[in-house]
Amino acid sequence: MDKVLSVSLGEIALKGLNRKYFENQLISQMKKVIKDIGYNKIYKEQGKIYIEAEEIHFPQMINRLKKVFGLVYISPCIRVEKDMDEVAKASIEIMKDRVNRGDVSTFKVETNRADKKFPIKSPEISRQMGGVILTNFNDLKVDVHNPDVYLYIDIKQNCYIYIDKIKGYGGLPIGTNGKGLLLLSGGIDSPVAGFLMAKRGVEISCIHYHSYPFTSERAEDKVKSLAQILSRYTGKITMYSVNVLDIQKSINAKCPEDEMTILSRRFMMRIAEKIAIKNGMNALITGESLGQVASQTINGISVTNAAVNLPILRPLIGLDKVEIIDIAKDIETFETSILPFEDCCTVFLPKHPVTRPKLQDIEVSESALNVEELVDNAIERMEVYTID
Ligand code: ATP
Ligand code: MG
Repeated sequence: MDKVLSVSLGEIALKGLNRKYFENQLISQMKKVIKDIGYNKIYKEQGKIYIEAEEIHFPQMINRLKKVFGLVYISPCIRVEKDMDEVAKASIEIMKDRVNRGDVSTFKVETNRADKKFPIKSPEISRQMGGVILTNFNDLKVDVHNPDVYLYIDIKQNCYIYIDKIKGYGGLPIGTNGKGLLLLSGGIDSPVAGFLMAKRGVEISCIHYHSYPFTSERAEDKVKSLAQILSRYTGKITMYSVNVLDIQKSINAKCPEDEMTILSRRFMMRIAEKIAIKNGMNALITGESLGQVASQTINGISVTNAAVNLPILRPLIGLDKVEIIDIAKDIETFETSILPFEDCCTVFLPKHPVTRPKLQDIEVSESALNVEELVDNAIERMEVYTID
């Protein structure tokens, strides 16, 4: 009788021909996060991944594995041979452990027989093991509709018995859907946007724009902290830090005041695109949400998009602020995001930004600027950090 962790795959299980690739990516992510804890073996068995390790390490492993995308739930299991006496012993042990934690009065046994050669059919296994539990636990009753706990029995090459299903985030393993450059401000939205795209398998790097010395070093530290929290889910993150003060000054000097926001956004996109392409990334990611602020209108978005060719992914586009905040709290970026430091210089912010910019007008305003030179100068002076 061995204790192992089982990992269920969710969406990856539907991947058909590509399934092996996705599974292997997931396994390599899992290995990365538990390698310093130590494990004996990771193996696949009929649709699930199993980890052999010392049981005392399970809680710590589960805590880290929960954050690996592609994984739907994790269960501490007992693994036994396909022998009904062994299954019975394991069922009693796992139920005893669960009952000791309290709050169980009803149960239901659910069997999944992946190995169709095993001679006893699922309903019969469930019935027999239900009987075993009833004789060994006088206070427990069966409830087939709304039990307090399910006792799961998976019959595969081995037999696995478990009760707990600890939820992961699902999604797809990091790196299975290209690379994206996240425009990371110090706000609430952009870390959530990065999280959501990473959850869909995008490998994330970050770019942050600041207006030092108008903005403080503490603002920069705040953004690094946010990237660090994100890296719990994504692994190592490269962060590009770009000073845009000269750009803001030029815009301020030469362009209409109410176009400051949209013009700076187009610069942000151009700089991001250039860095992305140079580093083999396929998309930009922002935390924009439709209508949230004056610049996040459909007009604003299309004028912003027109500055670049790479796709701009906006996973928050249809979310309300409360929905975004809920995710931010869940992924633990919220408390850092609400610290009071400014990300870009607010000295230049217009009182009434244009909400319906026209591309033509914006291009006319930009013709007063040496766009390429401003972009290149900013990139030349950028700093690059590795966040782990
Ligand atoms: P956030 O909460 O992410 O700061 P926001 O509600 O403040 O977003 P905006 O200021 O319009 O909205 O920014 C929209 C998006 O543009 C941000 O989500 C982010 O992706 C990007 N962005 C804005 N400012 C910066 C910055 N200083 N550095 C990098 N990206 C930025
Ligand atoms: Mg912001």
